[in-house]
Amino acid sequence: MEAKLTKEEVLAKEVEALRKKRSKRIRKLRLKGWTWQQIGDKLKISRQRACEIFNRYYKGEDDKQDRLTIRAKNYRRLSDKLQELARKKGCMICDNHKGNFVWHHRNLRKKGEPTLSSLLYSGDIKKIKKELKKCDPFCWNHHIKLHQILINEKLMTYLREHYL
Ligand SMILES: [Zn+2]
Repeated sequence: MEAKLTKEEVLAKEVEALRKKRSKRIRKLRLKGWTWQQIGDKLKISRQRACEIFNRYYKGEDDKQDRLTIRAKNYRRLSDKLQELARKKGCMICDNHKGNFVWHHRNLRKKGEPTLSSLLYSGDIKKIKKELKKCDPFCWNHHIKLHQILINEKLMTYLREHYL
């Protein structure tokens, strides 16, 4: 007698094939530098679920080296984007739209608050957008001058308090 698959077995095979396909897709995105959150958003599942599906076939492959590659890729991709955005806005002082820019935090950073560059490594777009609202673009030159003035002001405050 020929062994025939039951309806349930056929269905289980199809599900398995779909899972495998999905985990392959997730792996591709991971290697491109996407975060679990970004993958989850794209596939309309939670980031935990995306991680579970990945681990079903590729457990252990997402090792430290992969994570470092992903962080470096996130950083490069997002810092290029921020440079592009800064060039579009132009320097706050000279309205220059060319060259290298620095996003300067308007107020003093609170203790424990992440820096913009640490956020670039994380690839967390929501947090980066929130942080950018507190920053202005300056051309390289004016950013240096800005810091010189800030240091001078600190010095003046110190002198006023202790000597003047
Ligand atoms: Zn400038």
